[in-house]
Amino acid sequence: MGDAAPLLEVRELTRHFRVGKAQVRAVDGVSFAVAPGDTLALVGESGCGKTTTARLILQLDEPTAGEIRLDGRDLRQLDRAGLRQFRNDVQAVFQDPWSSLNPRMRVREIVAETLICNQRLGRKELDRQVDAALTAVGLRPDHARNYPHEFSGGQRQRVAIASALISRPRLLVLDEPVSALDVSIRSQIMNLFKDLQAEFGMSYVIVAHDLGTTRYMADQIAVMYLGRIVEIGPSEEIFEAPKHPYTKALLAAALPSHPDTPHDREELAGEIPSPLEPPPGCHFHPRCPAFIGPVCETDYPDLDPVEGAGARRVACHLYRGAAVG
Ligand code: SF4
Repeated sequence: MGDAAPLLEVRELTRHFRVGKAQVRAVDGVSFAVAPGDTLALVGESGCGKTTTARLILQLDEPTAGEIRLDGRDLRQLDRAGLRQFRNDVQAVFQDPWSSLNPRMRVREIVAETLICNQRLGRKELDRQVDAALTAVGLRPDHARNYPHEFSGGQRQRVAIASALISRPRLLVLDEPVSALDVSIRSQIMNLFKDLQAEFGMSYVIVAHDLGTTRYMADQIAVMYLGRIVEIGPSEEIFEAPKHPYTKALLAAALPSHPDTPHDREELAGEIPSPLEPPPGCHFHPRCPAFIGPVCETDYPDLDPVEGAGARRVACHLYRGAAVG
């Protein structure tokens, strides 16, 4: 991230749920910032809290504690006009274009919906903006007359992107935006996201379960495990030299194996524990190939800067002696 004031700031974000007598710490003190025009990826296995974090940013859910700021404004303080502006400024594209598009609506109505809800525009201007949004995502203006079932999966995702784009958002939250698509068209859609970002200067928060799909798009990566960020930093640094044992394991899983490659991979053993009963100490310790002793079982490591690791912060006792700042 550059020196620009962040567009999005998330501070100590926390979301706990009650399940019977137990408490699930779905998101547990997560902090990060995204600069204008930058992309941050939230990465981790299911149950790590990345989707809940995205829902909190989208105001589809309320945090138990912590704050979210867009352009310095605390989302909890927004009045009606501020909320309307938020709905224009922050849009989402979800994993499954089938479930996110109303099958009974024509593409024109789907794409125009945000503008109809949040802005008062005449028919001609609406049509002009729908045409522009469809063109921007590589569809034709005459596609506006069609229904979602008349499109392929990739085209439906383009319709979903056009409908997110039409209000000229400043932040797009992308929840596994290509994982439901055929492998053959994933790179087309990822290219489209890159091109749209270059053209419109939007910031992205991408939610993804594997590191592979984020490499191409993310400036920053935040790796989450059982509700917390365990490593965060510039994407290139993380791909070149991951620090946290969990990041190393995720990366090993994302890379194709080759018989000639020296086998220094740290494989991920066992299942992710239930967030209802996260292991004490470092939550990753039952699966950690680098476990260093009782401290891992008793003390949760802080997310600290690590010497010689650039702008990275890592939550692991392996680096505690080398923490800086
Ligand atoms: Fe592994 Fe211990 Fe580091 Fe946790 S704190 S990741 S258990 S070495």
